[in-house]
Amino acid sequence: MINKAVFFDRDGTINIDPGYIGNPDLVELYPGTASAIAELKKAGFRIVVISNQSGIARGYFTSSEVEAVNQKINSLLKDQGTEIDAFYYCPSHPDFNTHEECKCRKPSPYLVFKAAEEMKLDLGSSYFAGDSLSDIECGINAGIKTILVKNGRTEEQISNLLVEGKIPNFIACDLQETSKLIINDFLGGN
Ligand SMILES: [Mg+2]
Repeated sequence: MINKAVFFDRDGTINIDPGYIGNPDLVELYPGTASAIAELKKAGFRIVVISNQSGIARGYFTSSEVEAVNQKINSLLKDQGTEIDAFYYCPSHPDFNTHEECKCRKPSPYLVFKAAEEMKLDLGSSYFAGDSLSDIECGINAGIKTILVKNGRTEEQISNLLVEGKIPNFIACDLQETSKLIINDFLGGN
């Protein structure tokens, strides 16, 4: 069976981003994250997180700590009746790692393609949503539709993010609006 998916950035998109989270106790989901994910899953989307975690390369935390944070995110979501299907992350940063080791780092579409292969995902009916330019570029590089999630940032901050040729298909205030845009777009296109 071929599945469609929504790829999400993690920090600043799913959960509030205090900067380099290595402690599960610091995880705080944005309000509405769980219901947005539940609605997308009900519409048949798999939910996959694609995250840059260069805090590992920088020595701020270990991969086990990143995984503990991922598990905490899922346990908070499970309390609200839903969950993320898979988490992929890139531990590398060009200041500390080789070019080869950084091939997973967004805006490279490497982890999107890896997830698509492992989870049998149909990229033609999939989406990438995130709060940074690297998320939009990653989606564009993977050839899928993109949504920039504002999550409280000002119009000025958002317009500074948008550079020529890297324009998202949609801009959403939050994940609730993101899920509505995706579901409407998918239904409209089929
Ligand atoms: Mg982010």
